[in-house]
Amino acid sequence: MFNLSGRVAVVTGGGRGLGKAFGLALARAGADVVIADMLAKEAANTAQEIQKEARSSLAIQVDVTREDDVQKMAHQVKDRFGKIDILVNNAGINVISPAEDFPEDQWNRVVDVNLTGVFLCAKAVGRIMIGQKRGKIINISSIHGFVGSLHNAIAYNSTKAGVINLTRSLAAEWGKHGITVNAIAPGIILTELTRPRLENKDYHDLWVTRTPLGRIGQPEDLLGGMIYLASDASNWVTGHTIVIDGGYTAL
Ligand code: NAD
Repeated sequence: MFNLSGRVAVVTGGGRGLGKAFGLALARAGADVVIADMLAKEAANTAQEIQKEARSSLAIQVDVTREDDVQKMAHQVKDRFGKIDILVNNAGINVISPAEDFPEDQWNRVVDVNLTGVFLCAKAVGRIMIGQKRGKIINISSIHGFVGSLHNAIAYNSTKAGVINLTRSLAAEWGKHGITVNAIAPGIILTELTRPRLENKDYHDLWVTRTPLGRIGQPEDLLGGMIYLASDASNWVTGHTIVIDGGYTAL
């Protein structure tokens, strides 16, 4: 039920961090995995690691905010593998600034990557999935799509809420095409994105104190949810966001 042999997956932002962990987990479950990232070297390194798992992989340099780039990526995958079964919309950025001073260009950049990027990739790959009459799209949101934060991330939090309803909206439109669209909303996970702030002891301890399971998450904590949503185990689940946060939002 959780076996992904014969499936083709695309992971955006798969060069490092959570995207890399998702790519490797999908490969270990049997899928061939395309790593699409703005960082060409990181994407190539992850693709090489996937090949060591005896799966096919391809690294594609793409900026998810550019529709021409994204369309090219989707066609390249289709040409090489003949289909796309799974899309993981994982690429994302954060900019920290108090809301009252948040620069408009930085707001636009965060919206472009975290929300428009998800839409553009879903649109390009969705067309291919509609033709196939099947597909699984998994968007990476955040607990900050549900709750605010004390950490000056107004644009990030707003886009992650947008991703949750984009997920429901696409699920509603594309159910008739056999496509499921779901999301994962992680709590804080140690990656290159969060490491600089987590190195601050007060910040680190605040998260640990506020998390019922009493620790910061690791990328591995998200992989069960990812494989569930990518596999046949979730075939009648769509429009849903799985929160994986050590209980942070239960308080
Ligand atoms: P990261 O910064 O380590 O990795 C993000 C990846 O996205 C990088 O490889 C980067 O090159 C790529 N990327 C950024 N902009 C891009 C663009 N325009 N086009 C293509 N690729 C682009 O971050 P991460 O912690 O691994 O986060 C991955 C996702 O998980 C993000 O969407 C993030 O918001 C989300 N998330 C992370 C956490 C956490 O605590 N780490 C929590 C909740 C949600």
